[in-house]
Amino acid sequence: MLAMVLATPRPAEERPLELRQVPQPVPGPGEVLLRVSACGVCRTDLHTVEGDLTLPLLPLVPGHQVVGTVVDAPADADRALLGRRVGVAWMAGACGVCSFCREGNENLCPDARFTGLHAWGGYAEQVTARADFTYPLPDAFPDDQAAPLLCAGVIGYRALRLAGALTGGRLGIFGFGASAHVAIQVATHLGAEVYVYTRARRHRAHAEELGARWVGAPGDTAPALLDRAVIFSPAGEHVPAALAALRPGGTAVCASVTMSDIPRFPYGLLYGERRVSSVANATRRDALELLALAERIPLRTSVESLPLADANEALLLVKRSEVTGALVLRP
Ligand SMILES: [Zn+2]
Ligand SMILES: [Zn+2]
Repeated sequence: MLAMVLATPRPAEERPLELRQVPQPVPGPGEVLLRVSACGVCRTDLHTVEGDLTLPLLPLVPGHQVVGTVVDAPADADRALLGRRVGVAWMAGACGVCSFCREGNENLCPDARFTGLHAWGGYAEQVTARADFTYPLPDAFPDDQAAPLLCAGVIGYRALRLAGALTGGRLGIFGFGASAHVAIQVATHLGAEVYVYTRARRHRAHAEELGARWVGAPGDTAPALLDRAVIFSPAGEHVPAALAALRPGGTAVCASVTMSDIPRFPYGLLYGERRVSSVANATRRDALELLALAERIPLRTSVESLPLADANEALLLVKRSEVTGALVLRP
């Protein structure tokens, strides 16, 4: 099969991925084989190819928002999946027995494995995945529209949940990329008023189009105090800014995998029982809930599709924030 392979991590400008013919993957026990029809491009893929993350497996095929059809399911228990269209997300597996897994926080499992990091991902024509970490996808979503739900969408959903934003109220969103453009639709559907802080003109227009009550630049003051905030941007200076915008008892959640250092800020910004949290990965429950909501709302994902061979260009667009909504690769 063809795959975009990372041999040595390098800056995206140096085109680190190479289109190669590689052996077809063989599903192990409990795994299924998918023929990939679309794979979303995530900022984490950029951190992977540039070597910001520790890479336990090289060479590596990145990609963890995979939509595909199950074409092989060796275990009897998984035969029902044959011919089904499913999604594969960032979590490739968890141990199932540690205290985190038993409490429903498998996203924090110390033995968690990730797609496109510990296992080859979806920048390829085929991929294997643990059957119990695949998700049936709502029929209403074409392949490319479904792909960004699997990480951008699910992480945004978990961030909303941790912020307490699934019950309405005033929600601030800092940064407006792939995750935020899904989160705003979920939050407004559930009754939230959404206030968006973003600099780029096209991101502001996009936020307004998707129902933002107010759109401003970072540093502007929203017309009301926020009940909660989700910081999608990887810029640490948004943390004190979000705290300053929160009412007492409000929560700010950082949804990025990496973030620049948070500048020093006076204790008065945190006082008043304000909270700051992060999001680390997402559970299967998050994915199933988001996919069910996606169909009910129904969510609209803004997607730009590129051929698989253009994965390097796609990562550069993500690096330069030159994407409105989400990018998807089609093998
Ligand atoms: Zn575990
Ligand atoms: Zn991701």
